[in-house]
Formats: sequence, C-alpha cells, structure tokens
Amino acid sequence: MSGEVTGLDMNEVLEKLYLGSEMAVDAEELRKLGVTHILTVCHRPLPTEQHAGFKYLYVSANDVEDADLLTRLSDCFRFIEEGRQQGGVLVHCVAGLSRSATVVIAYVMMKTEHRSLDEALDFVSSKRHSIKPNFGFLEQLHLFEAMGSEVNPQHPHYVNYRIQMLALKVQRGAKVNEILGDLHEDPLQQSRSGQQKASSFFKCRKCRRPLFRRSGILPHSQGAGDAAFDWRSQQSARGKHSLIGQEELCQRSLFIEPVEWMRNDILAMEGKIICPKCCAKLGSYNWFGERCPCGTWVTPAFHVQTAKVDECKITALPTTPS
Ligand SMILES: [Zn+2]
Ligand SMILES: [Zn+2]
Repeated sequence: MSGEVTGLDMNEVLEKLYLGSEMAVDAEELRKLGVTHILTVCHRPLPTEQHAGFKYLYVSANDVEDADLLTRLSDCFRFIEEGRQQGGVLVHCVAGLSRSATVVIAYVMMKTEHRSLDEALDFVSSKRHSIKPNFGFLEQLHLFEAMGSEVNPQHPHYVNYRIQMLALKVQRGAKVNEILGDLHEDPLQQSRSGQQKASSFFKCRKCRRPLFRRSGILPHSQGAGDAAFDWRSQQSARGKHSLIGQEELCQRSLFIEPVEWMRNDILAMEGKIICPKCCAKLGSYNWFGERCPCGTWVTPAFHVQTAKVDECKITALPTTPS
C-alpha cells in the first residue's frame, strides 16, 4: 500500500502520521483528513496564520550534515504521539525528503517492529519514494540505532555526540553560557541528595573533594590522529554496529565531560580547570581541542591531570551529615 494522499505533497507513513513538503500545509485539506498537529523541521517556522488552529511544534534545523536532530528527537516523538492520539500529525520540512524524513524514520524505528535503520528506511521509502536524508542525518540515525532505537541520554555515544555538537556551536561563535544546558552532575550534589549511583569517582588529591564519576570520562582510542571524538568518523571507522570499547583505548590522560561545578569557569575558549573547593589547578580545557600525549586530537578537551586526582573505588559516596 502506498501512503499517497491525493492532492497534497505528503504521504501517510503510519496511521495518522503524514510526511510531506511545505506544499502539504493546506489547512483546509489537513482538517478534512483529521490532522490536528503540525511539526515543522526547518530553518524557519511557518507563518503563524498558516498553522492557526493546529497544535504546532517548530524544530529549527538547516538541511546540512552537522545540523543536530538527534537531541530533538524526544520532543518530536512526544509531539507525534500526541498528534496521532488526538487526530493526526503532519511532519514536514521544505521538500519532505531529508529533515522531516529523518524524524519520521527515527519514530518508525522507535515505534514499530522496523527497528533497524535499513528496515525503517525501506519501510518509509515504500510510503514516500523520494526520501533522502543527508549523510549527517543518516549518521545520526546510525547512532540512534546503536542506542537501541531509543534516546538514552546516559549512553556514551549520545554523551559524546552532545558534547561534539556543543563544541561545534562554541567554535562557531555561540555564547557558551547560553548553550551550556545540562552538565555532568556534580558528585557532591548527588551525594547530598542521596541519589548517588554505585560508580567509582575521582576526588581532588589535595582536598579530597569528589569531582566526577568514572562514567564522566570520555574515552578515546590511542593515536587515532585528528578525530578522537568525531562521532562521524567513529561511526564510519568502526562500522555502524560497533561500539566504543572494541579497540585500544588510551589510558594516559583523563578527558572528561564538563561537570556542573565547572559551569562558570569554562565560558572562555580555553582556560584552567580549578578545584571548586581548594582552588588547586586540576587541568585545562579548550573548546577547540587538544592533542593527547598518545597522539590523538581530542575535541573539545576537558583535560584533568591524573596526578591531581585519586580514584575511589567505593560503591557509595559518603553522605553529608544533615
Ligand atoms: Zn581540591
Ligand atoms: Zn590519548
């Protein structure tokens, strides 16, 4: 069955889920089909009058390879779910081929038995033949597939990806304090709220203040040249189903996720990382990256000197007495 909808440049991919171009945004025709929700994945939102009377979500994205859709998928999924329950939802971009198709393919992977990317691509192509996600979006879909067709913010691939995207924005001139978002949780805060996870952590050698968990370390492969954390070259070099941990990881240096206590100290392009308690210099950061002694270029680099921290291999952090 083809999902063609007569007269509009859109196709029904799953029940009450339509994928199409800008030309599909025809309020009268959409209402006839019972559509209640419109999701625009584009470099500009629709003019207000065009989506008046519909529930509307706009996700800003250019059709370029490093445009980030992955971190917006959860919002899109929630909106699509609601739309399908309340009447119907149209997901569109300009041509309905790349950006909007990527969101719909990911949704199909998450929602149906077509959980592999290849299957989902075939399935969505069978409904809308012309779809063609750009290379960067395909790589994001590979990453989504590697996470088990769900968005898992704790997954090392996702953490790496999010930090790469953050660094890219900083390198292009975005104000760091405006885009920083969630950082790796301060282990001390976790300890106080009693929500610490059973994971070893690193503390300041000088004052013993807990600094970050082992899970906050961003591993990189030894001597990988100029692309340690580049999620795209990781994907292509390792094959689409491979995961971090299948090659020799560097043990010489600690590159970590930025931690909540660093927030006000990492607003410049580069600088020192200072212990929040005793002000000892722990290392340095550089949003444009730094070369690890093993030869790998690491971007962005939040580099903690191994001599300045101690790892505590206990399962629970000491709780602060109340
Ligand atoms: Zn300290
Ligand atoms: Zn290294």
